Amino acid sequence: MPDSQPPPPNDASAASVGTGHAGTLLLSGARLMDGRIVDVRLNGGRIEAVGTAGSLAPHSSRLDLSGYLLLPAPAEPHTHGDTVLTADAPAPGPVSYEIEDVQRRATEAALLQLGHGATALRSHVRIGDVQGLDPLEAVLQARRSLRGLADLTAVAVPRLLTGVAGADGLAMLRDAVKMGAGVVGGCPDADPDPAGYAETVLELAAEHGRPVDLHTHGDDPARLARLAAMAGGLRPGVVIGPCAGLARLPREAAARAADQLAAAGVTVVCLPQGGCGAVERRGSAPVRLLRAAGVRVAAGSGTMRDVSNPVGRGDPLEAAYLLASQGRLRAGDAYGAVATVAREAMGLPEVRVEAGFPAELLAVRGERISGVLSLAYSRIVIHHGRVVARTSAVREYCDSAIAVALELPRQGRPDAGP
Ligand SMILES: [Zn+2]
Repeated sequence: MPDSQPPPPNDASAASVGTGHAGTLLLSGARLMDGRIVDVRLNGGRIEAVGTAGSLAPHSSRLDLSGYLLLPAPAEPHTHGDTVLTADAPAPGPVSYEIEDVQRRATEAALLQLGHGATALRSHVRIGDVQGLDPLEAVLQARRSLRGLADLTAVAVPRLLTGVAGADGLAMLRDAVKMGAGVVGGCPDADPDPAGYAETVLELAAEHGRPVDLHTHGDDPARLARLAAMAGGLRPGVVIGPCAGLARLPREAAARAADQLAAAGVTVVCLPQGGCGAVERRGSAPVRLLRAAGVRVAAGSGTMRDVSNPVGRGDPLEAAYLLASQGRLRAGDAYGAVATVAREAMGLPEVRVEAGFPAELLAVRGERISGVLSLAYSRIVIHHGRVVARTSAVREYCDSAIAVALELPRQGRPDAGP
């Protein structure tokens, strides 16, 4: 069976969901990306030791990971907590921005994404004359309720920041940062003065020591060049996305823009599922071109089940799968875009399955990264050294299917694994 569970360990003290917090947890028999089978001991939210299988002393809390590939946990760099899960609202009409509604949806979506493995999430939240600050307050409440399970950061997205209407937008953005928006965001393309808008965001972020994460379609090379010039040298570096419009530029213009972004140290968060804007703006950034120019490219999920995307799993492994299948990245690089690079884009510490690194881990049933990107049903998610979510899938075939399978050479059998 391609994704069945290993037999449950006989050890009565085997770790279940919720164990390991602050204490010690031994992950035994896990496979790493390089093929080694290891034991990993977690303690105090960090990886304390990694040794060959059986080499670390048995522990009171143990989780048998034989049959699983153990990975640095992915992170979700681009969600929309204010509009998520509104596509199936019982009453058609405008989205409800009631604090309770937004908090419930943002929390539900974050738990879904956590179940897929994303132990850190960055959620863009619009603020302004229509919504006010209520959706931001709701997402900040969701952030508090998720503490210990996942790290959620809110990005304040003001509507206008220049001209007469911009004065109100700027005042609201200042309030948003004071309330606890961890990142300053926005959509410069939607302001009458995109460069002025971006400049205002960068100044305010620098003033408050906040990172910047801007939406842009990326189809205007002059605008991108100005943004890169303004962002160059800033610490922390600026993140932009989803940049699907870059893929529609003539190749030479796109390559020049990519060089400018790379020189400015700008990270691009692409959305392989098609973006988060209007239908005519859906698509994905030219990932290979950006990477060839030296741009750091992370990948996120974007919108999920709202007006711009009626479906969505919020699964980082799906984003990586799409990067590998459509972006034609190697599977390991595609996973890096949703894990290592996504974490870096979000200002999070690096995770490696090595002693001393944070215990932010995802175990997926399977042997190789290409296999787990293709068939990743069973997963165990570890946040701060503690098992926070577990998904178990069992597939059963009828007897005649099993009889057929037994006739196959080993490689072709359905139970040969990914
Ligand atoms: Zn977006």
